[in-house]
Amino acid sequence: MPDTFVIAIDGPAASGKSSVSKVLARRLHCAHVNSGALYRAATWGILQAGADPADPDAAVAALRALHLDCRPSGSSFTILVNGVDPGEQLREPAVASRVSTLASVPEVREILTALLRSLADGRSLIMEGRDIGSVVFPETPYKFYIDASEDVRLSRRRAQGEVDSLVSRDQQDSTRKTAPLKVAAEAHVIDTTALALEQVVAAVLATLQRRGLVVEAPEA
Ligand code: C5P
Repeated sequence: MPDTFVIAIDGPAASGKSSVSKVLARRLHCAHVNSGALYRAATWGILQAGADPADPDAAVAALRALHLDCRPSGSSFTILVNGVDPGEQLREPAVASRVSTLASVPEVREILTALLRSLADGRSLIMEGRDIGSVVFPETPYKFYIDASEDVRLSRRRAQGEVDSLVSRDQQDSTRKTAPLKVAAEAHVIDTTALALEQVVAAVLATLQRRGLVVEAPEA
């Protein structure tokens, strides 16, 4: 087994990626990265700078001028934009409605992919997103695609009290030319529509073990 590993968890919005990733990070004693939060932080920073995330040239220029920093914090990371933690502002409609447009710009993906890759230097990670298994860490043997029916995903979002046009985001994310949302080669696809969180975690752990990652038994 290598000293460090990356577990890639991709899938559409509200499919359960974050919940699974957080439990896995605890079980495997490693850090968890929500790459969607980085795309949201970039969108927020560009808006704060007064630029339009839908204007590729202006957005890339504004992004290059931002200082994006991912600081380890517990088993996760805090993203600072020019030293500021945007916190819950990342979930606001102003960001949610623009993030997929920004994420379709190849230069934006190049900048954020480099930052995401740098987080794995010397540490094991669980990273969730849309292109983690296909583009960011294509060499990892530990790839998952977490899915759920549209109805279930919409009701999960509603339960979180969030206004989110996730159907149109998914459409944009899966049809863009650069690094679209798709099932990466060799990814284990798990449909969580009718599964409890513990069942999804158990399925992931079983696959990790089959693929050679040593997983300790949970404490009794
Ligand atoms: O995961 P979350 O829904 O917060 O992601 C917000 C958006 O960020 C996605 O809809 C997508 O447009 C973009 N994203 C991406 N690639 C990733 C992670 C997120 O394009 N790896």
